[in-house]
Amino acid sequence: MKNFQYYNPVRVVFGKGTIRELKKLLRDKSKILFLYGGGSIKKNGVYDQVVEALKGKDFIEYSGIQANPDYEDCMNCVLLAEKENVDFILSVGGGSVLDAAKFIAAAIYYEGGEPWEILIGKGRIKKALPLGSVLTLPATGSEMNANSVISRREIGEKRAFSSPHVYPEFSILDPETTYSLSKRQVANGIVDAWVHVLEQYMTTSLDSPLQDRQAEAVLLTLLEEGPKAVLSNKDYEVQANIMWCSTNALNGLIGCGVDQDWATHGIGHELTALYGIDHARTLAVVLPGLLSLMRKQKEQKLLQYAERIWGISMGDTNVRIDEAIARTCLFFESLGVDTRYSDLGIDEDAPEKIAARIDGRNEVFGEGQNIRGPEIIKILKNLKD
Ligand code: NAP
Ligand code: FE
Repeated sequence: MKNFQYYNPVRVVFGKGTIRELKKLLRDKSKILFLYGGGSIKKNGVYDQVVEALKGKDFIEYSGIQANPDYEDCMNCVLLAEKENVDFILSVGGGSVLDAAKFIAAAIYYEGGEPWEILIGKGRIKKALPLGSVLTLPATGSEMNANSVISRREIGEKRAFSSPHVYPEFSILDPETTYSLSKRQVANGIVDAWVHVLEQYMTTSLDSPLQDRQAEAVLLTLLEEGPKAVLSNKDYEVQANIMWCSTNALNGLIGCGVDQDWATHGIGHELTALYGIDHARTLAVVLPGLLSLMRKQKEQKLLQYAERIWGISMGDTNVRIDEAIARTCLFFESLGVDTRYSDLGIDEDAPEKIAARIDGRNEVFGEGQNIRGPEIIKILKNLKD
């Protein structure tokens, strides 16, 4: 096992009716920026619950944070928060609103030049405004991690940053808030969580059996509960389990002391930046090609995944690996998420474009730091070698 530090200060407030806990959680805040998206919270009653809990508090609202939150919107919020002397940001919505809240919180105190530097690895975050969240979409794990992903449509970029200063102080997870999600959003969330687990699990690390089994526990639970949630997302227990799975998929625990390979997210972000494809739908297309191409490097873990998740223990190595990848694709497809690059209906030369963008930034992916442009093209075209 590799050396590691684990730090996670997020208070998770989980369960039915927990939005009313906001009153206590926000007791010592004097000016709150209440941030939300395009209006789903007004239709499903979450907005009313939040406003009720904020009664007597001084707060301002900013709505319209888009899916794949945009840099320009975030910068407008920075100006607003500064003007209004905001001392806390409350995100109400999915991962996009929360990622926007994290970026705004960091940008407010950013002392360098343009806050975009934070997203291109040039800026150091020394301080951020405190924030909290009411999560309405299980997917990203953003509610219990220090990551944020921001898009800048003006220049066609989607970039991420991470800082311990942007952990939410608290995250309220009420599974009932997810009843209004569409099937597409439920399925996207399950695929995103699945891929988060694989990016911390499917590597060369073979000496961390506890983390492996924690990762497998999340996968097996998603496998059992996911199809039920897509069928109907009005069952409290199913939604509660999906919600807690997606938090556990990316709260840092399963990633302790192991190698990680974030190539699928790295390549997927380019697909979203260039073509506006839903985050999870990019992952579902990149993952099969990645697993197939990197099969030698990941062989032991792929075989373990084949056996423990899919019950495949017979046949030669390549047959078992191919079967495990095929079963993963079938699972995603059963949820309604396409897994073939051709399903995206985008430019034929997109793999080359994406490879050139990533190489142009000198980015390298993979636990062996061996996924660059040429490999990215093969991954997107799903070529084995
Ligand atoms: P999202 O972009 O926050 O939301 C997708 C859509 O779902 C929005 O249109 C939103 O509508 C709607 N929605 C949210 N909750 C709803 C509800 N309860 N009922 C009905 N509709 C609802 O989706 P997400 O998957 O949570 O976030 C995706 C973003 O997170 C991407 O930018 C991705 O790159 C990033 N990400 C972050 C991390 C991380 O660790 N921070 C990890 C993976 C991905 P409204 O706008 O109207 O609310
Ligand atoms: Fe993700």
